[in-house]
Amino acid sequence: MRNGKTVFVDCNDTLIAVRHASRSDVVPDGFKSIERGGQWYHVQARPSADAFLKAVAAEACNIVVLTGGSSRIQHLLLALTDLDEELDQVIGFESSGRVELPASWVLVDDLQGGCSSFEEKLAMLGFKRKDIGEARYKALVEKHCIQCRSFKGGDDSAPLTGLLEEVRTKLAA
Ligand SMILES: [Mg+2]
Repeated sequence: MRNGKTVFVDCNDTLIAVRHASRSDVVPDGFKSIERGGQWYHVQARPSADAFLKAVAAEACNIVVLTGGSSRIQHLLLALTDLDEELDQVIGFESSGRVELPASWVLVDDLQGGCSSFEEKLAMLGFKRKDIGEARYKALVEKHCIQCRSFKGGDDSAPLTGLLEEVRTKLAA
């Protein structure tokens, strides 16, 4: 790891749009297709993802993809969409609770609040909501988490690059 700053970033619907498909499904416009273990994936890079990752890497932050899925499959999908170049690590559900936390970090994810996503991701980082309590959990989200709009393919109306200022602010706090 390069220094004491890490940007954790969610994979599905944040960096890439992924659809689980069958062999016979037509690949939608702008998507690439790959098969692993009999499962087909249609995948598209978020248009702003490459510029976002490059900007974060240019500030000498570590970039770690946190995924609720398998790190092997997600890495494959990120490579297929040419988004693997700047990544330091892809951490899947199997590594839950064994993640190294630097002095400053943020988590960029497309879901928050009542949705399970942030809660699951924070648990992967070693913060379980039921263990740390509501007040500390809320403070943690406020201090470290940044919500992006979900990307499902096609138009990227809320680009990740629009979040760079908030990333810098939260890393400096
Ligand atoms: Mg997601």
